[in-house]
Amino acid sequence: MNASDAPAIPEEVLEIARTLEQAGYEAWCVGGALRDAILGHPHTDFDFATSATPAQVQALFRRTAPVGEKYGTVGVIDRRRVVHEVTTFRRDVATDGRHAVVAYGVSLEEDLSRRDFTINAIAYHPFRQEWRDPYGGRSDLGRGLLRAVGEPAERFREDYLRILRAVRFAARFDFAIEPATWAAAVAAAPGLARLSAERVREEWFKGLRTATSVSRLVELWVRVGAAERWIPELLAIPAELLARAATVPLEARDPVLLTALLTDHAAAVLRRLRASNAEIERAALLARGPAEPAGSTAADVRRWLSAVGRGADDLLELYALREGRDAPWSATVRGVREHGEPLARGDLAVSGTDLQALGASGPRVGELLTTLLDRVLEDPSLNQRDRLLALARELT
Ligand code: ATP
Ligand code: MG
Repeated sequence: MNASDAPAIPEEVLEIARTLEQAGYEAWCVGGALRDAILGHPHTDFDFATSATPAQVQALFRRTAPVGEKYGTVGVIDRRRVVHEVTTFRRDVATDGRHAVVAYGVSLEEDLSRRDFTINAIAYHPFRQEWRDPYGGRSDLGRGLLRAVGEPAERFREDYLRILRAVRFAARFDFAIEPATWAAAVAAAPGLARLSAERVREEWFKGLRTATSVSRLVELWVRVGAAERWIPELLAIPAELLARAATVPLEARDPVLLTALLTDHAAAVLRRLRASNAEIERAALLARGPAEPAGSTAADVRRWLSAVGRGADDLLELYALREGRDAPWSATVRGVREHGEPLARGDLAVSGTDLQALGASGPRVGELLTTLLDRVLEDPSLNQRDRLLALARELT
């Protein structure tokens, strides 16, 4: 699509604009959804900039959701239940590199001027089919260039997160970064240390999910100075692994697995980035392993499944990412699961109470269960109550 053609705007989005305009407010399509639509990646959800205040937006629409009221954003829910972000024209009156204090009652032009990159500072009026593109964002989209709005050094100083956003967008769209913007980003990189770990993690994860090539994203994090401050583990990635990361397709972009693929101590990295406990735990299970079964028999695979527990699927995925092919034992895993073969003490046909009835007590009960499980992992057909009780009698 030519960057000056009318972008594809869904009917539900037009309706929101119509409601705002009929009530006497301005309504412009802006932001990431418009940018993506111009690039030919249509969105169902859109972003609007409007002259209406958040209270006026809420009064106009039957169904709204609080999205970011502090920053003037109201979510308007359409009849397909898609949430569209409607944000009051705003200006940042104070910034400290991390937070902004905003003021309303400004013009569209002022609103566009506080946005980060030219490709994110385009507005389109869906009825009048009018563009407001004061920084040449459409032309930059056309030639594949990421460029700051206004004076780059100042823009990164206002919000250091923009450094990470710059490399994310460059990697996602495979754009070049304009030299002055790049130089300012590198110079501002020490300010990254002041960001909250949560915001950095969000950028790292979003970057991994959306980059055309994971290795380009990593290279940009390294070269801009973000890796040094937040994930120094990325500085030591062998070239071979980086080449492998370049081939990970978009549908396999699990940020926890990719962090484990790229770094040796993924759980520590994720803890540093204040990832969720569940995410940190997944990384810890991956590191604990064992990464592979000790041999290739079904019993080896069952023992491996039993040892790795909930980590099995992630380990299989990680193997596939690392080697570029499925783990040789993955078919056996499928078979074991299809047959519902016992893998944990809880799957055994006897319980601790049964063993106590045979006279076992204290830690001996647990030891016996472990021994029985061991035998059952070797031969699942043993997992019958009578046979296990007989075995237990022999063992006590
Ligand atoms: P995506 O949602 O695909 O990550 P996006 O550009 O939509 O990308 P959002 O965070 O959803 O990013 O922000 C919407 C718009 O708000 C952006 O397009 C940009 O115009 C503006 N914006 C967001 N974050 C910043 C920021 N840190 N500094 C300046 N403008 C920003
Ligand atoms: Mg967005």
